Amino acid sequence: MKRLQVFTLVFITLLMSCKTTMPIVGAYDAYPVYTGTDLGLTWSPGKSVFKLWSPPAEEARILFYADGQGGSPLKTLPLKKGKKGVWSATVKENIEGQFYAFQVKIKGQWLAEVPDPYAKAVGVNGKRGMVVDPAKTNPSGWDNDRRPVLKNYTDIVIYELHVRDLSSDDNSGIRNKGKFLGLTETGTRSKEGEATGIDHLVDLGVTHVHLLPSYDYLSIDESKPYDPKVYNWGYDPQNYNVPEGSYATNAENGAVRIREFKQMVKALHDKGIRVILDVVYNHTGVTEASNFNQLVPGYYYRQNEKGGFSDASACGNETASERAMMRKFIVESVKYWATEYHLDGFRFDLMGIHDMETMNEVSRELRKIDPSIFVYGEGWTAGASPLPDERKAIKKNTHLMENVAAFSDDMRDGIKGHVFHPEQKGFVSGLAGLEESVKFGVVASTQHPQVNYQKINYSQAPWAKEPHQTINYASCHDNHTLWDRLAISAPEASEANRIRMHKLAGAMVLTSQGVAFLHAGVELLRTKKGEENSYKSPDDINRLDWSRKAKHKDVYTYFKGLIALRKNHPALRMTSAEMIRKHLKFLELSESNLVAYTISGNANGDSWKEILVVFNGNPGDKKFEIPGGKWTVAVNGNQINEQGLDSIGNGSMSIPPYTAMVLYQQ
Ligand code: CA
Repeated sequence: MKRLQVFTLVFITLLMSCKTTMPIVGAYDAYPVYTGTDLGLTWSPGKSVFKLWSPPAEEARILFYADGQGGSPLKTLPLKKGKKGVWSATVKENIEGQFYAFQVKIKGQWLAEVPDPYAKAVGVNGKRGMVVDPAKTNPSGWDNDRRPVLKNYTDIVIYELHVRDLSSDDNSGIRNKGKFLGLTETGTRSKEGEATGIDHLVDLGVTHVHLLPSYDYLSIDESKPYDPKVYNWGYDPQNYNVPEGSYATNAENGAVRIREFKQMVKALHDKGIRVILDVVYNHTGVTEASNFNQLVPGYYYRQNEKGGFSDASACGNETASERAMMRKFIVESVKYWATEYHLDGFRFDLMGIHDMETMNEVSRELRKIDPSIFVYGEGWTAGASPLPDERKAIKKNTHLMENVAAFSDDMRDGIKGHVFHPEQKGFVSGLAGLEESVKFGVVASTQHPQVNYQKINYSQAPWAKEPHQTINYASCHDNHTLWDRLAISAPEASEANRIRMHKLAGAMVLTSQGVAFLHAGVELLRTKKGEENSYKSPDDINRLDWSRKAKHKDVYTYFKGLIALRKNHPALRMTSAEMIRKHLKFLELSESNLVAYTISGNANGDSWKEILVVFNGNPGDKKFEIPGGKWTVAVNGNQINEQGLDSIGNGSMSIPPYTAMVLYQQ
């Protein structure tokens, strides 16, 4: 997550005029806490009830409009102050289709009109709430939509995707380019005849699609027609409980984006794929002018020692999950997405900004809805935070949380080298000294007697209590694609060798314990043409270039084979750290850039009695001793065949450069 500092600063400058006086920090704790779950709009055909929490407000009102932007109010209604800082008003007529905004007066001054943070539908550009009949937002068959079966979190193979990237290429064969509906189209083909879009995801075999921010964010003007040059990742949240309008076929009518988001979820569910949303509760896209801040100035954010906004997100502000009403907002928001939109998981951006108690409550509440809903996040912050480390949901505290996972930067950078030093090589490209980091990834960051924790690149101790608390990956939307990174860090290597490194990286992620995570397009040697922080680069940088599927079919087939291998072999996705310690043993090897381990005893019910996995990141062949008996080769550097490509049986083996191999004994 890297993005919008400049953008945010511009907004702060623009909005100096609506700066509000914030009370001293301690005063926020004295604000009454409302525990009801009816904040925002509760609608029925004959009655709309509006509730707004704003303890410091002297007056509050709601303004009704005919449109999502512009025009004069149709009506202004004062809100009445009740208990616990809650203001309310009831309209006893059917106002479906109307738009509305809240406004509060503090210290004699009316602040800006904004939708309430709990708004579930908004007009164009999210400036006003919209009164929508929820029943009319359900696509046909929605009542029968079911989450695909998931037994264990370690069965998950995540595919991280931006809504636009799947379809925006001219060669996608998809009609609804850049839209939620682009993820509902089946039977789509590239001009080379390869399956694209949702069919591609099904064929590849991933279990979950993780969508980059798809709630309503600020940076795309939804009133303008689709422009391939105007693009954003979406890490600038505006309305948390509403889908992004630029991904809908109509951003004016607030019901359309809701319905089309649900159509997308249903289409993926129908194909057996679960859906995860990237959620960015750690900061808002604007600070002073945000919905939160115009209704309860300062409360939802942390303050620095000078009383201003602290900035652990490096985007101008950080939210204060430890404050009761912010925590409540986050918990209710994810519950809403899980129930109304049937979402199956949540990826928390800069999760380290949140406190652990909030993350535990998120996980606990979601598991009450369905125990298979998965929660994970970035276990770090982007800047200093006033929240003490012992309360933060940072990576090293993951073991203290329940059913919350974190990304393993240890494994990521062990595989390809330090993320902030693009020229640096990693294990797959021949840099020695990362063996323990790789082994740590193999055991999903858990405690294992054969890992030397003093030699790991970042962590000095196991941070996952159980394997499902680790997300193993080699690349994601941030930074270079894996393929570009290999070009930058190993320019001397032939393309054939870089393809070997790339496949080796894929094999390391997909054979390791824990939860596997793939950046969309890694299976096509995705390139962003060398760009790193492509958060606002045009479609032609960020799109999945579908011509690469036919061109690099061997890479695609290899990744597909690795996913199938992982699905077919429960030994590769053991469910407890204890099981891993019992069955997984590393071979003692003296060579650098060589890691090998066995998984014995039909682990986790596997059909294979013994499994031997070897990673060679060296530029040359490596020969070494292996346990005796005849081994069948299921995976080599070129291909995968679980029935057997070859066999080895003399107590030693040789592995080619930049290669992963998987062997087994029945
Ligand atoms: Ca938007």
